[in-house]
Amino acid sequence: MTKAIAVQCKAISKQTGQRCKRKALPGGEVCRYHGGAAGQVKAKAAIRVEVMNWGLGDSHVDPGEVLLRLVTQSAARAQRYASELEALIDEEGLAAAMVDELEIPTNHGGYKAGEYIRGLAQLEAQERDRCAGFAMKAVAAGLAKRTVRVAERQGQLMVQMVQAALREVDLSPEQASAFKAALARQARELTASHEV
Ligand SMILES: [Zn+2]
Repeated sequence: MTKAIAVQCKAISKQTGQRCKRKALPGGEVCRYHGGAAGQVKAKAAIRVEVMNWGLGDSHVDPGEVLLRLVTQSAARAQRYASELEALIDEEGLAAAMVDELEIPTNHGGYKAGEYIRGLAQLEAQERDRCAGFAMKAVAAGLAKRTVRVAERQGQLMVQMVQAALREVDLSPEQASAFKAALARQARELTASHEV
């Protein structure tokens, strides 16, 4: 994780006519006495901190743009967990999927179904919260609600498209999971990339 570096306030002090010596609010350009705490400035600073925390900090990229990508990525991840849960329940039935007698084989060994389902459900809930948080910050920073909603929808559609395509072709379970892993990696790289 990259830490936001404290910078000196950019404002000029009215009393001394010199540049203010206070530290700017994290991610912002001015200290709290020079408007750093005003709503819009605060929201933008929060985004920069968020972006830096994700290791995506880059002064050439609009933080709002990066935040939109985080919304898309997070929505895609939540959608993946949701689809996997759904497929599991469709296949085994809710009752069977919830008990620990069924064994779910994965790349990292087998899991008892109930345990696996509870884990997935937890991951999905966490990711939905995270996605909602990104979306809220994006709107607070002045991005249009519609734009944020489109970014979220994009992530969901991406995953639904890939899953529909996977159902159409006949991949072995190994090929399918290798493909999904490659896709997840590509999505991460795309989100972290500095090109718009
Ligand atoms: Zn200042």
